[in-house]
Formats: sequence, C-alpha cells, structure tokens
Amino acid sequence: MKKLTPMMHQYLTIKEQYKDALLLFRLGDFYELFLDDAIVASKELEITLTGRDCGLEERAPMCGVPHHSVNNYINKLITKGYKVAICEQIEDASEAKGIVKRDVVRIITPGTLIDTELLEDKKNNYLMCIYGNNSGFGITYVDVSTGELFTTEITQENLKQNLEDEICKLQPKEIIYSIEDNELEDFLRVCEKKHNLYINKYDQWRFEYDYVLKQIKKHFQIFTLDSLGFAKNHLGIYATGGLIDYLKTTQKRALNHLNKIHIYSLKQSMILDITTRRNLELTETIRENKKKGSLLGVLDKTVTSMGGRMLRKWIEEPLIDVDKINLRLDAVESIKEDILTRKELKENLKEIYDLERLCSKIVYGSVNPRDLVALKNSLKRLPNIKNIIINQKAGLLQSIVDEIDNHDTIKDLIEEAILEEPSIAVKEGNVIKDGYNQEVDQLRSASRDGKSWITTLELKEREKTGIKSLKIGYNKVFGYYIEVTRSNLSMVPTEYIRKQTLSNCERYITPDLKEVESKILGSEEKVISLEYQLFNQIRSIIEKEVAKIQNTARAIAQLDTIYSLAEVAYENGYIKPIINNETIISIDKGRHPVIEKMTNNSIFVPNDTYINQNEHEVSIITGPNMAGKSTYMRQVALIVLMAQIGSFISADSGTIGVVDRIFTRVGASDDLSQGQSTFMVEMSEMASILNNATNNSLLILDEIGRGTSTFDGLSIAWSVSEYISKNIKCKTLFSTHYHELTELEGKVKGIKNYRISVKEEGENIVFLRKVVEGSADKSYGIQVAKLAGLPKAVITRAKEILTNLEKNDITKHESIQESKDSKNTKENHQLNFIDMNKEDIANELKQINLHETTPIDALNILYRLQRKANDL
Ligand code: ADP
Repeated sequence: MKKLTPMMHQYLTIKEQYKDALLLFRLGDFYELFLDDAIVASKELEITLTGRDCGLEERAPMCGVPHHSVNNYINKLITKGYKVAICEQIEDASEAKGIVKRDVVRIITPGTLIDTELLEDKKNNYLMCIYGNNSGFGITYVDVSTGELFTTEITQENLKQNLEDEICKLQPKEIIYSIEDNELEDFLRVCEKKHNLYINKYDQWRFEYDYVLKQIKKHFQIFTLDSLGFAKNHLGIYATGGLIDYLKTTQKRALNHLNKIHIYSLKQSMILDITTRRNLELTETIRENKKKGSLLGVLDKTVTSMGGRMLRKWIEEPLIDVDKINLRLDAVESIKEDILTRKELKENLKEIYDLERLCSKIVYGSVNPRDLVALKNSLKRLPNIKNIIINQKAGLLQSIVDEIDNHDTIKDLIEEAILEEPSIAVKEGNVIKDGYNQEVDQLRSASRDGKSWITTLELKEREKTGIKSLKIGYNKVFGYYIEVTRSNLSMVPTEYIRKQTLSNCERYITPDLKEVESKILGSEEKVISLEYQLFNQIRSIIEKEVAKIQNTARAIAQLDTIYSLAEVAYENGYIKPIINNETIISIDKGRHPVIEKMTNNSIFVPNDTYINQNEHEVSIITGPNMAGKSTYMRQVALIVLMAQIGSFISADSGTIGVVDRIFTRVGASDDLSQGQSTFMVEMSEMASILNNATNNSLLILDEIGRGTSTFDGLSIAWSVSEYISKNIKCKTLFSTHYHELTELEGKVKGIKNYRISVKEEGENIVFLRKVVEGSADKSYGIQVAKLAGLPKAVITRAKEILTNLEKNDITKHESIQESKDSKNTKENHQLNFIDMNKEDIANELKQINLHETTPIDALNILYRLQRKANDL
C-alpha cells in the first residue's frame, strides 16, 4: 500500500464535504482540480489534463488554472451548470507548521455570483427558494450581488399557474426547493424542463419551523418575526429560512447587505402570465430573445446599471394603485418638462458607479482600492444630484432627495486615505496616500532614502576602487549587487564577495550593501502589509455604512428610472395619461411604441381606441392579413401597461382605467416539447383566460379557433365572444377572420365592430392602417398572397376557385344564428359543401380528355374522384 501525501490527504478530507461541487484547491499561484473533478474540468474548460503522484495507487488526474484568471474559468463552469467550491490557504505559508491549512471559503453557484464581470449590468441575478406544502407555496428570492431580498406566498387557487408565472417573471438563475406535495413537486420539475431552469432540491429538515425561525432571527438579529412584517404562518417564512440557511452554507459569511426583506403580495401589481409577457415582448423579443425590439429596449435610457435593473422591474410589475402610478407620472412629468434638469441629471448620474453591487463586494471583502475610489467619485456627485431636483415639486422626487445621504464621512475617509490611482490588487502596495498614516510615511521614506543610500554607496565604491564604470544593480534572485566589467577585474578589492559571473562582467556583494538592502527591502515589504491592513480597516468602516449606502443606491436607481422615462417621453413625443379607477380606456391617436420606432415616425398611422365596461367592452376587429390588427391590439395593451408602470404613453391623449391583468392569446405555436398541438395550446390558453379574467382585465385575442375546422372554430370564437361580454364583461379586443362574428354587434350588448381599412386600386390593395367603425366585407387573402410573392399561376388559379366558391354563395350564406338554431345552420353549411364537391367532381369528369388519357392516368383520376365521393 502506498501512503497518501499530506496534500492529497487534506484534499480528500475537504472534497468529502463538497461532493456536489467542483473543488478548486489553491496550491501557490494556481487553483488545482484532482481526480474526477479534474477529468470533468479539463473537458469543460479545454485545459490540459496532467497527473501527479499523490500516494494513490495510480497517478492522480490533475488540472489547474492560474489564480489571476480564475474568474473566467469559474464563469464557464457556472454557465455549464456546475457548482464551484473555492478552497483557499487560510494561513500564511511562511508561518505554517507542516502542511498549510486550507478550507473552502465559498461555494459559487449560478444564483450566488457577485463578481461584476460575471454578471449582466442591467439585469438582476436571482436565487429563488421555493417551499411548498398542501396549503401552497412560499417563495423567497434574493440577488446576492445587489442585496435585494423579497418574499411572498401563493395560497389561492391557480397555485401552479401563479408559481410558474412568478418564476418566468423573475427568471432566477438558480432555484432551491423543498416541496412536501408530490404533485406540486412534479409540476416544478415540469417547469424545469419547459423553462430550462437550474433547480436543486434542498434538505427538507432545513425547512422545519423552529429551524427556519432560528435562521431568520439570527440573520436579521431580531427577537420576533413581527418586526419583519410576516403574518402568522406566512409560507414565505419557510422559504426565507431555507434561503438564509443555503446562503450561510454556501457563502460562509454573514451577509450584512441582506438587511431588509420586502414582503409582497401577487395582488399588489398587475398580473401578467408568461404567454402575455412573451407576446407583448416586454423585456425581450419572441424570436431572438433580444432586448432591442422590446418595450424595455425603447424605454431604457437609464445611465446607471441600478436604474437599468429598476426599470426592468417596473416593466415586469406594472402597478394597479392609482396613487402610486400618479406619483411616478408626476415625477416623470416634472423632469420631462425641464431640458436643463435632464441634461444635468444625465451628466451626474453617468458618474455613479453600481453602488448596489459595490456594497456586496464590500461585504464579501472582495472590493479593491479602485472600487473605493469609484465609490468616492460617485458619492461626490450626490450633493449635485440633490440640488438638481431639490426644487421639483413632485412628491416622489422629494422623497428621493430625502433618501439620498451625502455619506460625507466615507467620502472624506477615502479621499484622505486612498490614492487617486491606486493599484487594483490589495496586496501589492500603492494603495494608501501619503499623510494618512505616519508609519506608512516613515517606511516609505526609509525605502526612498534607501535608494539614495545606494547611489551614495555607488559613488563611494567608485572612488574607493577607482573603477569608473562600477554600478550597483538589482535583480530578484540576488537582490542588490555591485557590477564590475571584465576589463576592471584587477581593481576589485579583496573584501568583495563574488556572487555571479556573466560573459562581460562579474557581480559582487559587500556587507555594507547587504545592510542597505535589508533596510530597503524590509521597509517595502512592511509598507505593503501595512497598506493592506489599513485598507481592510477602511473597508470595515465602510461595511458598517452599507445599509445607508444601499438606501442611497435605491433612491438613485429610482431617479435614473424616472429620468429614463422622462427622456424617452420627450424624445418620442409621449404624453401623460390620466389614470383612474373608472372602467374606460380611451386613447386618442395611439401608436405602437416599438413599431413606430422601427418604421419611420411619419409612416406609422395612429389610431384611436375606446373601450368601456358597459356598452362597449368587446371590439371585434376585422381586416385582411397584414392590415395591422395585431399591431393595433398590442399597441393598446402596451399603452395601458406603460401607463401603469408610470410612463408617459405613445398617444396624443389617453385616459386609462387601471386594469388588474392583461391577457393575450396570439397565434400559438406548437408546444411539442409538452406534447401539445397548436389547437390544444390555443384552447388551454383560452381556458386560462376565461377562468381568470375579471371585469377589470384587458383581453387581447388575436384570432381564436383557427387550429380546427371552420365550423368548430367559428362556433368557439362566437361563444367565447358571447361569454366574455355577457359573463366576464372585461375590456376585450378581438381580431378575427370569421366575418360572421361581426353579426354579434347589435345582438349582444357591449360588442362593437371595427375594421382596419384598405383601399382597392385595380387588382391590388393598399393598406391604410386606419381603424374605423364597421366590419370588413372581404378578406383580400389573394391580394395579400400576391403581395407576398406567390407564383402568378397560383394566384390566378386561386382567383378561379374563389369565383367558383362565391358562385356557390358560401360566403353570402345565411350567417350563424344564435345557438338555438345553430344546428340547422351547420347543416345548411354542410349541404353547401356537398353541393360544391359534387360540382367539383362533375367539372373534373367533364374536363377529362379521354383520347389522351393513359390507363394509369385514368386509374389515378378514378381514385381521386372516389375519395371525393367518399367525403360527401
Ligand atoms: P395583421 O395582424 O392584420 O396581419 P400586423 O399587425 O401584423 O397585421 O401588421 C402588419 C405590418 O403592418 C406590421 O408589421 C407593421 O409593420 C405594419 N403596420 C401595422 N400597423 C401599422 C400602422 N398603424 N402604421 C404603420 N404600419 C403599420
């Protein structure tokens, strides 16, 4: 049996505790991985796999990465879904007796990243903890890099739907969970696949009430949960306790920047399900998942990363409280009106560093001297920023002024202590300013003086020996030395001690030289370690102020968000909407905020909207394909949503009665991964809408019933429209190619027809993009197909067929009546099809030229005709 080396013994003992992570083991300037970890990492990171004799039976597979570039490698591993445990030397190698002590200082997981280079600036990086039992879910999520912590519970019906919506809204990078109900757990696992989530189960015992209670109390240093605002038995308590426990086990430090928990309810903001978020392209486009081309892409003029993240959150969680919305709108208005204010705000905000992420770095001890200078420069801007808005009347701006602290003590401390351009590394010196600490000054002068001693010594030796070319030099291996060229060797005194022979010279040392050297080098080393100590002291002083800096950071984020909305409102000619709790949505000359930017402003045709809840809740919109139906309906939804986040709107004027939810049903694509057909997806979306919409919701239905036969589809569309206007009474825009639906106007109260107008020019059509009252009488499908470039022959043939069909009068046929005689109607329609098919068979028979038909052709024709006859 071979004996394990002490290093491998230490490695294996540590690795035993971190089986589910790749262990990065610090050895000198490298982080090494061994055994299976090495095999995985070398493949994933494309680095060479070597081996090392560690006393195991065989050489241990090994690979390593240099410590200065370790972040890149960690990032790669995290992106590929691994956890990484960082094992450091935890004592000074020079002081160690035997093998240097090592331990894991942090486990990095996708949800616990804090290094800014690994994170997206304007996007949060959430870790979510889900606790579930038979009464519902508790959800707590945190962004460790910014210090934001939120919790909620879901206890009503639609548990699953609400959970999925919340996950999709927050897009957490990592989820941990403990769910006591098998069905709900299975559901979460389905979500994992569907939305490509990174999910791990966390030990159930960690969610026991007493245990979570202890975790929370200890973390927040409180005696009762009441001080945090938790209601009794709130499920968020479990999720929060579990999350804190997970952070403690992985981060291995007190996370003082997580000092507030925000308890929220799903009912506090507009509810948007995953389909609606995607369809309305709120933060990214459907096709390419890009911010450009989304609503966020248009509204984001924020200058700080903090503002960028907050704007995204505002868009993801539109408000439903009229007063809160108006607070935002008033603030946007007052900044929009004032060009100078906007300009000055931008200039000052531009200089503000990501204070939220900086606070996390301070708490983690990973802040560097340059970060502190950036902090100081940011803080310097705060008085200016306050001055710019101090006279603005808007209440929200006033409270922002109140929230911003100047942090003079910290600013002055950094100003006094840290060099303007310090080194990035904390352990290389060049951090502390002269005059801040006496000892640093003395050591520095010793090292400076030492250098002049060297010059004096050089002159003295030259005189003493008479060697004019004698030089004193320095290298890392020998330290200071006296260099004499070969031609002068005869003049070298006997007391010189030879150290090195080069081709044209010899190098010597003397006791005098070594004495000076030890003074110089000693003081240099000392100053570096003293600077490091002082830096840490300064960091701890700032750490005590983290909660206050976070407050300021949040206020700045809000201000930047308001600035952005004001800037966009000014640039794009948006106006302030009137917000109330009435049931009317009235928009004058509305424009689609994204599409108007893509076309030329002058080309986009504005349209009016009027929907109310009593006589006018459902608008049926007809018009040919490409006329602009989808654009119009999405435009209405986006305008309402913009208004409710506190943004000005892309219209000439608008009154928005606040809506509690927006639903969209837009041409579904097959969800094959879930084994669902287009029609099934369409119908389940429709079911969810009809079951959840309230009379305060806004519905956008872009065609329904398309995925099945005409009669089925039409009947479904018809009865859905009736159901909405009779039972739900929510504001609805419904585009359809079933012109029959327009007959509902006048029959069912609250349904009104609109069409998007087109102009016929000879055989072609021109899209006017104007929404007008009334219904379209033609589909213009063939004209649109022609515009799309279908071959001429196909177009001509389609026209022929259409004429035939029209001769059979199918389109003019008596429209569907109310349901009592719908059966008759259906039969009538079927008869009509039978007639058409008979005529088709007859026509085909007549056209056969028997002289030119081969027996095989004849058989084929017969086969086809028989199939048609079978369908009759
Ligand atoms: P539909 O839903 O009727 O098939 P879309 O809404 O998809 O039509 O519109 C088709 C195209 O017409 C859009 O891509 C857009 O570029 C353009 N469009 C729509 N509405 C307008 C408008 N009001 N002004 C200018 N162009 C528009």
